[in-house]
Amino acid sequence: MSKKVAFIGLGNMGGGMAVNLIKAGFDVHAFDLMPAVLAAAKDEGAIPFDSAEAAVEGVDFVVSMLPNGTIVENLYIHQTGLLDKIPNDALVIDCSTVAAENSRNLGKAAAERGMVAIDAPVSGGIAAAAGGTLAFMCGGSQAAFDRAQPVLSAMGTNIFLAGESGAGQIAKICNNMLLAVHMIGTAEALQLGVNNGLDPAVLSGIMLKSSGNNWSLEKYNPYPGVMEGSAASRDYQGGFMVKLMQKDLGLAMDAVAKSQSVTPMGALANSLYGAHAKADARNADLDFASILKMF
Ligand code: NAD
Repeated sequence: MSKKVAFIGLGNMGGGMAVNLIKAGFDVHAFDLMPAVLAAAKDEGAIPFDSAEAAVEGVDFVVSMLPNGTIVENLYIHQTGLLDKIPNDALVIDCSTVAAENSRNLGKAAAERGMVAIDAPVSGGIAAAAGGTLAFMCGGSQAAFDRAQPVLSAMGTNIFLAGESGAGQIAKICNNMLLAVHMIGTAEALQLGVNNGLDPAVLSGIMLKSSGNNWSLEKYNPYPGVMEGSAASRDYQGGFMVKLMQKDLGLAMDAVAKSQSVTPMGALANSLYGAHAKADARNADLDFASILKMF
């Protein structure tokens, strides 16, 4: 018999992830607050439910992909109290990007009910969600991580256990803070070259084979026209939006404050993305490589 997965939050990311679960043979019980989103999931083969409580009845797994930590805690613990409706032996996998504290609260509330919840935030955008090539960074026990494998491997290709509850979120914000830093560094270096007469494609080719090489340069060149198919080459439309990078940098700065860490580059990246978003209201919805416009 097919395993049942309740999927809650089928937006830009969750929609594609749920389709991959269906393709892998899971029965997907879908719930989203937006009727249009739910209707689209139904068209893809999910079974729509009119409440989260109804969607989780009799399931083996619950997967959520929601906008923020307040929504996650309200759904599972406070307002909706979904943990009290989920079968006790089901595994809860929250893939939303939230503060580590939100994930720990969820893990603790589940444990108090004799249940297991793990955090499994993702790296990779909407295309990776649709293509089933996400990276998952999990926080929880080894046993829970092992139980989550069939579900996570249907939606992603690289699946890591970062540590205990909340550790997945910490791994995610460390990675994205570094991503912001090397994207900004790549953009300013390219613009410096262009301002001094270099062709950005020629300069990119040189740096790719030199010590300045990095993921932003290799996979996500921020200079328009250098890389076919990049966000930069389509006027920074689509991709990983500035406002989502700001969200992740904000979570990183919260973790910095809590742990009294020293992250001057991350703090500067946070300020620069803030200034970029403020400079023009439209920038928040552009891909994060659009930081190049600043230079
Ligand atoms: P989205 O806004 O497109 O989707 C979120 C969905 O959740 C919406 O359809 C919304 O209606 C639904 N929702 C909100 N509250 C709900 C509730 N209480 N019950 C049921 N449904 C509810 O957002 P997204 O881009 O899919 O992002 C989801 C998560 O993934 C976020 O935490 C984000 O930070 C993370 N993330 C996004 C990307 C990206 O490129 N978009 C990449 C990595 C991680």
